[in-house]
Amino acid sequence: CQLCHKHGEGVKLVVHHIVYRSQGGTNRVDNLITLCTDCHTTKNHQPGGKLYKWMKAKKKVTKQLKGATFMNILRKRIMTAFPEASFQYGSQTYVDRKNLLLPKGHFMDAIAISGIKSVGQMPDTVTLISQFRKKKRSLHEATARKGRKQPNTSSKRNEKNMNHARGLWLNDYVRVIGNHAKGYVKGFKSKGYYVYLTDGLGNYVLSNGKNYINRKQCRLITHNGNWQKAEQKLSLYEFK
Ligand SMILES: [Zn+2]
Repeated sequence: CQLCHKHGEGVKLVVHHIVYRSQGGTNRVDNLITLCTDCHTTKNHQPGGKLYKWMKAKKKVTKQLKGATFMNILRKRIMTAFPEASFQYGSQTYVDRKNLLLPKGHFMDAIAISGIKSVGQMPDTVTLISQFRKKKRSLHEATARKGRKQPNTSSKRNEKNMNHARGLWLNDYVRVIGNHAKGYVKGFKSKGYYVYLTDGLGNYVLSNGKNYINRKQCRLITHNGNWQKAEQKLSLYEFK
């Protein structure tokens, strides 16, 4: 038993899903663990229980693995797109960063990887690039929802729920007339007559007490793919 560490001939073991099957846990080996029947109880599964805590801890691990998977895919694509690029391991970058007297941080690693021999000026801002969904999330209803007899394949979306409205698209970068505000279109309101604006960090940019503004007050700066860019002071940047 991986919980109470009981073992021997008399101990009955069961296979436990660390992330419960009811919570989307898989049958993969990294989600399975052996427990004795004394530990594999209903009580231990419930909030506050030991197995419940395991599930919560495991979920975090899964999130980190998602990031690792993403980086693996990205690395492959970068190396394909830039055949002249060379590969460097983190252990070398660590040494380079130490030699440049740079503190810990992903972007500090980026400076070290660039191959410069000395740092003339310490950076004070970070440029963050993040992805933004370009579609309104809604499930394609191939099978009828619970309580419905027919699948809903014909109904039109409300205008404000489209990925574009009144000449603007989701994630367009706009400026507001008579205001210094600039932001990305995060969503629409009232058939697209109003738009919500956020900076590249997910914060609303308008300081008029509302998060949205009349579409007519917005002028397009750039039409974007699903990328957003934001600059942040180094002192505000959270190390992750
Ligand atoms: Zn046990």
